[in-house]
Amino acid sequence: MKSKIDAFMKEIEARNGLEPEFMQAVQEVAETVIPYIISQEIYHGKNILMRMVEPERVVTFRVAWVDDQGEICVNRGYRIQMNSAIGPYKGGLRFHPTVNMSILKFLAFEQVFKNSLTTLPMGGGKGGSDFDPKGKSDNEIMRFCQSFMTELYRHIGPNTDVPAGDIGVGGREIGFLYGMYKRLKNEFTGVLTGKGISWGGSLIRPEATGYGTVYFAESMLKTKGDSMKGKTVLVSGSGNVAQYATEKATQLGAKVVTLSDSSGYIYDADGIDAEKLAYVMELKNVKRGRISEYVKQYPSANFTKGKTPWHEKCDVALPCATQNELLGEDAKALLANGCFVVSEGANMPSDLDAVHAFLDAKILYAPGKASNAGGVATSGLEMSQNSLRMNWTREEVDTKLREIMNNIHDACIKYGQDENGYVDYVKGANIAGFVKVADAMLAQGVV
Ligand code: NDP
Repeated sequence: MKSKIDAFMKEIEARNGLEPEFMQAVQEVAETVIPYIISQEIYHGKNILMRMVEPERVVTFRVAWVDDQGEICVNRGYRIQMNSAIGPYKGGLRFHPTVNMSILKFLAFEQVFKNSLTTLPMGGGKGGSDFDPKGKSDNEIMRFCQSFMTELYRHIGPNTDVPAGDIGVGGREIGFLYGMYKRLKNEFTGVLTGKGISWGGSLIRPEATGYGTVYFAESMLKTKGDSMKGKTVLVSGSGNVAQYATEKATQLGAKVVTLSDSSGYIYDADGIDAEKLAYVMELKNVKRGRISEYVKQYPSANFTKGKTPWHEKCDVALPCATQNELLGEDAKALLANGCFVVSEGANMPSDLDAVHAFLDAKILYAPGKASNAGGVATSGLEMSQNSLRMNWTREEVDTKLREIMNNIHDACIKYGQDENGYVDYVKGANIAGFVKVADAMLAQGVV
């Protein structure tokens, strides 16, 4: 089996060897999906995984814009349209200086499996720019978004490709992007998700990724007759996903003791309760400050510069910042300190060594493509509401979100449980996500 996987990866490397994050995401899928393909005759001779690894279309474009000093700046824009076998391309836009082809292709590839798992009719895509929103004025952000959309609008549409937010793209950016799309196309359609409530957005969309990650942790714990109540939780990041993961974990009776950003992490032994979280939301979303400022407001907490939170003691870890933020040695430290649940809010936050350490230890470990699918699932619900021209209530959306997260959990059990009852959620998520897309591709012929 190993030789078959190695041979497949060698071929992928010949074409994509300079894209390490993409190679990593493909390797993780190949390890579980290739054995499954070999066991299922219908996929033989179809070269199906190779077809899934190659994007249907990649668009890159110049984004020129003028800053507040009158200087002309140039960034690069991207949209990866990875797979549309089961629905229009769907996936976020990331604005961050590290954005490149490798990162967006890994995100688009993961998105295909994730969207399939949600049970909603959504293909996979991802896009963004190497633009850094940090330190930019609202006017600069607006001018950049407008320039970005003057090219992107040709490639998207409510039945073609529906982008959303990701790192560096929140409600403010979606607003500017949507305004420009509407102006260019002269139509009010659901072409972006994560919109404001008064102009086509869905209740619970901002909360959905973080809430879903915690719902997934709760579902895993339930298989052991346990729950989030009383658990000590490490959260990384302090953006959208981290904030709402903290909120839901706290609501379910857990104590969240860390948050972080790219400068370091804060540790608050008393827990980050609702009042402290409200402070963090104001700090990060309105003042656009740094997490280190938390300790000025709450002096009993401490800030550790340049480090991630994974060497602190906990029961549950929720990585919610970015890819490869949790390495093999961090996984070992977590396990040594008693952590037995990891539910990923970010995309591919654990490197391959960390993933293997969690799987070897047989803890409750959920890969992001399963545990953070609540965000895109609620985006799918936003698309449905836009098509129906209706708004569902908070309770209706939250109930559907819980149902979808439960269904994803069941799908992981279906394909990931072994004869001793242990659930390999990586295997379960990869195979369940693969089957729906692969079957649709087979039905649609070689295109
Ligand atoms: P935000 O931009 O709101 O927040 C990102 C957070 O991660 C910030 O605290 C940021 O800190 C931190 N971060 C980013 N890069 C690094 C880095 N290199 N090292 C350490 N910390 C870093 O993004 P989101 O919360 O939306 O996204 C977080 C993760 O969740 C991403 O992996 C994203 O792909 C994933 N995700 C998001 C979804 C959504 O609905 N928003 C849906 C599914 C997955 P700093 O401010 O210092 O950069």
